[in-house]
Amino acid sequence: MSQKYSRRDFIKTGAAMGTASLMGQGRGLLAGIPRAAAASIGIMRVVSSGNGIRAVDKAMEILKNNGDPLDAVIAGVNIVEDDPNDMSVGYGGLPNEEGEVELDASVMYGPTHTSGAVAAIKNIKNPSKVAKLVMDRTNHCLLVGKGALKFALAHGFKKENLLTDKAREAWLRWKETLSDRDNWLPAQIKKLPEELQLLMMTHGTINCIAIDAQGRLAGVTTTSGLSWKLPGRVGDSPIIGAGLYVDNNIGAAGSTGLGEANIRTCASFQVVNFMGQGMSPEQACLKTLEKISEKAKLSPPSLKLLNAVGLPSFGLNFYALNKKGEFGAACMWSGSKYAVHDGQKSELKECAFLHKSKA
Ligand code: ASP
Repeated sequence: MSQKYSRRDFIKTGAAMGTASLMGQGRGLLAGIPRAAAASIGIMRVVSSGNGIRAVDKAMEILKNNGDPLDAVIAGVNIVEDDPNDMSVGYGGLPNEEGEVELDASVMYGPTHTSGAVAAIKNIKNPSKVAKLVMDRTNHCLLVGKGALKFALAHGFKKENLLTDKAREAWLRWKETLSDRDNWLPAQIKKLPEELQLLMMTHGTINCIAIDAQGRLAGVTTTSGLSWKLPGRVGDSPIIGAGLYVDNNIGAAGSTGLGEANIRTCASFQVVNFMGQGMSPEQACLKTLEKISEKAKLSPPSLKLLNAVGLPSFGLNFYALNKKGEFGAACMWSGSKYAVHDGQKSELKECAFLHKSKA
């Protein structure tokens, strides 16, 4: 599925797809397949970000046992939320600037077009499960901070300390080296372990989207967001239309990477819309990145969204799956992978990319 594009190739392909999509719409087809038939072809697929190979395996196991696709993707990402070694999600996630772990998550279920999300929730290691409860047990879409925590406790979740020693030490190192005009003194360590070298802001997330044999689409995105963020900062992951979007007639899309760049363009919604116009999942992801890249050029220099040659300075990835079970992913800068289970096997694949990273 993965393909490398130069910008010029992509613009050409995009133009061609634009024409094809109009034709597809006119015939009431979804990229050549009538919608009713597409839902009954029995295809099962699970797609996730590059840290999601265990997630796609778990989710596919559940789909094969006739499980619900939303339960399947949530069970998949729970493995990563529970894993202290993934420092971008759930337990062990990197904390905010005050050393507190704040998590964001959203879920969306295609058949009912409903969603749930929590943002800046503390002390609950599986925010994706709480997001599902927001969807099922409230008539709201998003709960934040203390309200989200109270809601989780009301449903029997237990408060846990999510800050592992590894994440705490990484945070401490960052804090101690922020300035030489404060009272913090970094430890004199000659060779730092890799996890203590995270002095820059880092990020990471898991997104997982699936279609089951009945054509039901669902998705989840869960994250600890940007490391060292301002307390209360909410990224794209819990924002429906940004970090996740599902339209059961078309497909699903999710994202990882700089949330602010995503939120400003409602980008997962864009990806799904582009698929609805007839683009392949990969083309829809690339076209969305192209738009984001263009918009970044309008940003004031203070936001530092552009590098020295005027291209986006940030990473952003999209993962997409359509109603036919076709999937694809693309990243702003080359070098990312995504995970997929096609019903036979799981594997990591190269994402297509908009800009080529220097080797
Ligand atoms: N999208 C996440 C956020 O901005 C971070 C990431 O995926 O890298 O919170």
